[in-house]
Amino acid sequence: MENSQTFKLTVIPAGHGDCFLVQCGQFNLLIDSGPSSADIRLRAHALLVKALGRRQVIDLAIVTHYDDDHIGGMVHMLRSQSVKVERLLFNSPKLIQRFIDERTREEVRITAADACEISELLPPCNDTVITAGAQLKLFGERVILDVLSPLEDDIVHYGASMIASLRREGNIGALGRDPVICPTRNQLLAYPNPSKSDNSAANCLSLAFRLTFAGHKILFLGDSWPSRVSQSLPGDAVHTFDLVVVSHHGSQYNSTLELYKKVAAPDYLVSTDGRRHPDIETFARIVKTAGERDLTFHFSETNDALTAMFKESDLKRRFPEQGVPLVFDFSAAKNRK
Ligand SMILES: [Zn+2]
Repeated sequence: MENSQTFKLTVIPAGHGDCFLVQCGQFNLLIDSGPSSADIRLRAHALLVKALGRRQVIDLAIVTHYDDDHIGGMVHMLRSQSVKVERLLFNSPKLIQRFIDERTREEVRITAADACEISELLPPCNDTVITAGAQLKLFGERVILDVLSPLEDDIVHYGASMIASLRREGNIGALGRDPVICPTRNQLLAYPNPSKSDNSAANCLSLAFRLTFAGHKILFLGDSWPSRVSQSLPGDAVHTFDLVVVSHHGSQYNSTLELYKKVAAPDYLVSTDGRRHPDIETFARIVKTAGERDLTFHFSETNDALTAMFKESDLKRRFPEQGVPLVFDFSAAKNRK
């Protein structure tokens, strides 16, 4: 029998994508589902089934946004009904289209790719777009989800182009890149801080949220734009979390000093296989804004690219063992105090 205070995050390795199982008491929450490519998807699904244990039910599945590395596995899971999904939270193309139509009072004729219309594929889904400022009380109000991104105006400004982009066939997989070497913590303090930012409409519309349960808080940033999350975190106060899931697999374009000045945590999770992300600039920004705080960086995957990246660095880091997902057991952490 699960303890009602169990609060556990299992980081399912999903290649270059995201797939997180959060267990709050007896409730199972799945945040994204990794890409559709068969090898990664089948491995992620097997690990998910194992992590779920006896109760093979997802009480709520959240799809942060449309990119294949977040939604791909979900399409297959819903089609095959391999795991029962009770409810879905997803700003689907239809909801976005309806929201734009209502706001602009003109019909924008865009047809979304059928493959992405997973909201029609079974479980009950939210009936309107979810945007920053919304607070969802889940599982008998024991889990609080504060939405920090996207902003309503972004749906109007970027929604149409994002939906249009769905018509393009195929998806851009994670490309290889030259080896990237992370320097020491002291060198990171002096690391350049270029001001390039993400211009992907899909990422601008990514959900980002704070999940609160049993006195613990996790910041899930999806692939969101940091400017949007900064705007949604009020004032100059520092918001503390047990864990921050870094935006967009650690891309430099989705991290800013401004955001990380507002956010403090002992642990940062980067969901990536190291082939395209993360960027050193992201680690530099987190280290620069952390001051004397002790930090550990956690990774969803282990491979040569990632371990080589850190071979010269003194940053504290943790990789999963092959075939065994990383688990954060916040209930156990609380008991230790
Ligand atoms: Zn992504």
